Amino acid sequence: MASEINTAPKGHPKGIYLLFATEMWERFSYYGMRALFSLYMLNALLFDKAYSGQIYGSYTGLVYLTPLIGGYVADRYWGNRRSIIAGALLMAIGQFLLFLSGCFFENVDTATMLMFLGLGFLIFGNGFFKPNISSMVGQLYVPGDSRKDSAYTIFYMGVNTGSFIAPLICGFFGDTGHPADFRWGFLAACIGMLLGMVTFILFKDKYLLTPSGEAIGVTPNSKDINKIKKENPVEGISESNKKSSLRLILIWGAIWIILFYLLYAVLDTDVIGSIIFSLTVVAPGYIISDPSLTKIERSRIWVIYIIAFFVIFFWAAFEQAGASLTYFAEEQTDRHIGLFGWTVPTSYFQSVNALSIIVFAPVFVIIWTKLNKKGKEPASPLKQSIGLFLLALGYLVIAFGVKGLAPGMKVSMLWLVSLYVIHTFGELCLSPIGLSMVNKLAPLRFASLLMAVWYLSTAAANKFAGTLSGYYPQPIIELALVQSAEKDNSLTLLPKDFEESVMEKDGAAVIPFDKITFSKIEDKTLKSHIQNSLEKQQLENPKTFMGYRISNLYDFFMLFVFMAGAASVILFFLSRRLLKMMHGIK
Ligand code: GLN
Repeated sequence: MASEINTAPKGHPKGIYLLFATEMWERFSYYGMRALFSLYMLNALLFDKAYSGQIYGSYTGLVYLTPLIGGYVADRYWGNRRSIIAGALLMAIGQFLLFLSGCFFENVDTATMLMFLGLGFLIFGNGFFKPNISSMVGQLYVPGDSRKDSAYTIFYMGVNTGSFIAPLICGFFGDTGHPADFRWGFLAACIGMLLGMVTFILFKDKYLLTPSGEAIGVTPNSKDINKIKKENPVEGISESNKKSSLRLILIWGAIWIILFYLLYAVLDTDVIGSIIFSLTVVAPGYIISDPSLTKIERSRIWVIYIIAFFVIFFWAAFEQAGASLTYFAEEQTDRHIGLFGWTVPTSYFQSVNALSIIVFAPVFVIIWTKLNKKGKEPASPLKQSIGLFLLALGYLVIAFGVKGLAPGMKVSMLWLVSLYVIHTFGELCLSPIGLSMVNKLAPLRFASLLMAVWYLSTAAANKFAGTLSGYYPQPIIELALVQSAEKDNSLTLLPKDFEESVMEKDGAAVIPFDKITFSKIEDKTLKSHIQNSLEKQQLENPKTFMGYRISNLYDFFMLFVFMAGAASVILFFLSRRLLKMMHGIK
């Protein structure tokens, strides 16, 4: 790279703080809505758990798929700034539609229609916003600037400041126990998005500049011939002729149809999953076949793809936070703090990650800067491998915590908190560094589209995470607790199939076991009776994932240790080779 500069001026350009603030409000809006969304479907629209879980999973997958559209449009036609503003506006409209849905929640048909319309706006809005704001961060610096990893880590603090305050504020207004109040939470998310948009519009001209003072993101990068010549002085860009691009569209279009068919009809994946997984292969394939790419550019893009592939396993294990780890917090964690006589609400565990990012991100910035000065800073692929290793370590710690634990018994919440903190360290090694790496490796004219490919791994991972969380050993839902109608109020445990007959015969109240908390049962004999039944059930019904038997929590957590551990080791051994393929970029 001709313009590579290795000596970095001190401090960071002011533009980074504008991107920080804009992204903070956008993530506030995203995570604020996410914190309420499942509850809204369950408690206001009265959807069942399976249906709302499906909608939730599809939403979090699609939100990270549409960046392909937003990245493409920005690189080719609109430039980053216009795309970010359009995305912000779409998302504000989406949140407002959810607010309206919440106003009409008693009329389920109208509310559901408004909700789906709102989700559509949010999905497309995020597509225009997320890849573009992410690719702008790196453009504030010259190509070889060693501060880029730190810059993305600062940006990532913005992401997490937003996600930390979101559940607190939107939850305060929306999650009050009255279904009519959800709308206020959605309105708060809408206002947050508008604040981000206005901040961006007001300050973009002043602060979003390259070190030499040129405005960033005004014209599409692929149209800026001067930039392209600067970026690629030797080889230049070969003319891509129209015929070959049409041929490419046809070839990749055909591959897409075949893959979709295989996933949907042969492997029985759901529609959304089939769209996401097939595009995870086709979109990167189409991009890398672009005839305008030089050999070096292509080799660097391969590095992005290979690492993005490993990162799928990171997020699939990490995102258990919203699913299986939340069941674990709810059912198997002793959340009581004796000293204050207080029980920590399950939802609070969701904040441990965001809070630890805010606390530890500066520490990581210092570590990278110090190591860099000594010439010992690990290259991006190695940092990603360390991130995966830490993820495996987090699960290993909790696996030991639950080893030999009788079902229904609870462990100290320190185990879960340790897991989240170790995972945060992993995330700091992997996620902001990944964004920075994509920015360094992508040719400028594909900067946002390749950022979208990076997010595509999150889309695939979110979908995969849902499948994996289905392996959480949950025999308890097969049982029902039957409270006798007689005076003594005694409780009996029966298989669920008996529910109806018992109800009919004795007029007894049946409480599904997953609705009550084990620790609340005081009768010792009953407790041990339940425990024995649970143990028996677990032994009788183990689930297997690719030949691996999961009959208890230890097995379940070890699955993630193996998955992330294997990914980490393979990436570690690949990292040297990858470094060569990066052609001079670290
Ligand atoms: N917490 C990050 C964010 O919301 C995670 C992004 C990702 O790639 N999964 O931006």
